[in-house]
Amino acid sequence: MITLTRGALAVCVLAAALTAACAPARSSREAPRPAPSASSPAVPSPPTLAPGPAGLTPVFDHGPRTGGRTVALTFDADMTADQGPRAEAGERFDHPRLIAALRELKVPATVFMTGRWAEEYPDQARSIGGDPLFEVANHSYSHYAFTADCYGLPTVSGDRMRADVERAYAVFRKVGVRDPMPYFRFPGGCYDRQALKALVPAGVTAVQWDVVGGDAFATDADAVARQVLDGVRPGSVVVLHCTRSAAPATERAVRAIVPELRRQGYRFVKVSELIGAERGGAPPTGK
Ligand SMILES: [Zn+2]
Repeated sequence: MITLTRGALAVCVLAAALTAACAPARSSREAPRPAPSASSPAVPSPPTLAPGPAGLTPVFDHGPRTGGRTVALTFDADMTADQGPRAEAGERFDHPRLIAALRELKVPATVFMTGRWAEEYPDQARSIGGDPLFEVANHSYSHYAFTADCYGLPTVSGDRMRADVERAYAVFRKVGVRDPMPYFRFPGGCYDRQALKALVPAGVTAVQWDVVGGDAFATDADAVARQVLDGVRPGSVVVLHCTRSAAPATERAVRAIVPELRRQGYRFVKVSELIGAERGGAPPTGK
């Protein structure tokens, strides 16, 4: 399980680095209910999973293993709530060249965006959200952890979890991201029963992954590409990052991953298509 070990380490390293500059969580005002699925009557509701056991927030890891070679690349747009001064000092948490590469290669993708990232890069957030190639999903506002022990990340208290998710949706609306998806990725991928219960009123499907790209702080694009190519199976969800300072090799890795997976017969889809297939509906036409 070398792949998983390396991946877990990469997530840990990224989380630790983010923690190094973290201040105590600042209080967030109560955000209005995001109602992501009711944003426009003209847009069909995105597929979601039925509630999990005991009515908890459902968790999605990967799509069906049969029925075709599909794979979803996902990119976390990490920015922790207190990293504004670092951005002001010149650190780049965005990655325009990566987004441009996905457009050039015509690769559909799901971007799990923190609200803080969308605040920092509103034009890019709006552009990604308005591009039918992509879908924007929620990676919390603060990028703080939803469990007590998550690679040393500061934690969101149980009574603030829902508000942190809804605050991100509020930022998406403010900056003009159209129709963000009702999908949520836990910072660090850490969750427990309490977190799943706290997010029930938010109406989201939690989206994890089954392939860790290991791109956090990686400088060897070939190694990232190999790890992804070794891990992908039909229906896989791959986690990568679109944060230039923390994932500088990702664009080059993607340029290696995409042609090879296409050569193997894979079709790139967004998470919504995998969730739709998991629910058993006819696969929507992917873009
Ligand atoms: Zn993250």
